[in-house]
Amino acid sequence: MSNCVIVGVNWGDEGKGRMVDLLTEKYDVVVRYQGGGNAGHTVINEKGKFALHLLPSGIFRDNVVNILGNGVALDPENLIKEIENVKEKGIKITPENLKISERASLLMPWHIKQDILEEDRLKDKKYGSTKQGIAPFYSDKFQKKTVLAGELLDDEKSIEHIKDLTKWKKLILENVYNDNSCSLGDIETWYRTYVYKIKPFICDTGEFLSKAVKDGKNILFEAQLGTLRDIDFGIYPYTTSSNTLSAYAPIGAGVPFLRIDSVIGVVKAYSTCVGEGPFVCEMFGEEAEKLRTAGAEFGAKTGRPRRVGPIDIVATKYGVKMQNATEIALTKLDVLSYMKKIPVCTGYISEGKKTDRFLFPTKLESAKPIIEYLDGWQCDISKIKKWDKLPQKARDYVEYIEKSIGTRIKYISVGAERDSIIIR
Ligand code: GDP
Ligand code: MG
Repeated sequence: MSNCVIVGVNWGDEGKGRMVDLLTEKYDVVVRYQGGGNAGHTVINEKGKFALHLLPSGIFRDNVVNILGNGVALDPENLIKEIENVKEKGIKITPENLKISERASLLMPWHIKQDILEEDRLKDKKYGSTKQGIAPFYSDKFQKKTVLAGELLDDEKSIEHIKDLTKWKKLILENVYNDNSCSLGDIETWYRTYVYKIKPFICDTGEFLSKAVKDGKNILFEAQLGTLRDIDFGIYPYTTSSNTLSAYAPIGAGVPFLRIDSVIGVVKAYSTCVGEGPFVCEMFGEEAEKLRTAGAEFGAKTGRPRRVGPIDIVATKYGVKMQNATEIALTKLDVLSYMKKIPVCTGYISEGKKTDRFLFPTKLESAKPIIEYLDGWQCDISKIKKWDKLPQKARDYVEYIEKSIGTRIKYISVGAERDSIIIR
């Protein structure tokens, strides 16, 4: 038996979905352990092209059981719509291959409303939220003002609980935001339309996973976003509201006693960052436009153009360390093929001094990047499947990153399709 966590090392959108889809071949169970429907994991395989938000990326493999752990933000409306979309393309989704933790909390329609109202209130100081209700959801979870999925199995009691919470949330929305649109009637309609449909999937997934561990099954834990969006160790407050780190996987999945065997850190061959927050290595103008277009860097969930930059060795080294990554998957190397000289951010200048430390968030705001250049290879590498077939300059680039971050790059992805991969 072995278990492995797949995480983003940087700001997210590194290609985790693509890597999970590839690697699930060897696993029996795939668990999402944090975050919610604000994820955008693009998967392209023989069944089509999918943008997964809450469903684990193992959903396309026939023999994989997919779990939404207690750590996720369970939005029944989004989940049901996603299940229906994916099923339309011929994918089987039943309580046999999708299980929802009875301990997962429900993301309610008012969380989305509150998220939008708060971002509007913040105006030019907004956090750059995807407006999926994630921050209000996790705040409420920690104030113990959410409904657990397992409660839904008793209709009468759960409806009573939801009624109580509606009264409380109405007070907040009316008094803080002057918004009167939260109504019990709407919540009842939402309950009838979506909540009923998730009930068959709810069970004690902790028990299921414990048994899977005991039976020697292979388990893959799938994270959302990346290190720099971690609520505790990221670019707070421009982070998400949960822990995106591998260390949180056993807790968010429901097996807090489990020791992790390996961690695959997914690193993109250059940097992208969606939304607000300090992004020291950011490129602008024509140079940025070219890279954004080459990498098709537009959000899978929001369609927003992603901010782009060269690979940031400082941020990546920090990400690898915080994730305790034991091996690296380097993605989108093919995107850099057009560059004659490839920029690399090798350090920062902060308060007049050079540093290779990922700084405290407010210090990052004023830091400037130190950029060096490596030679480009300037030819199509997207069909290459073997390390020694890569042009020397591409191998130099990979080896330079590997040396700089001190962790082995085992996988090199040169295209979005499942088999566009070089395994070293
Ligand atoms: P995730 O959120 O980490 O799963 O990443 P996203 O799916 O948001 O972003 C990665 C994007 O790059 C998706 O559109 C993938 O289809 C695409 N992609 C992944 N790996 C590669 C690669 O090696 N080359 C290219 N050209 N595209 C890739
Ligand atoms: Mg994404």
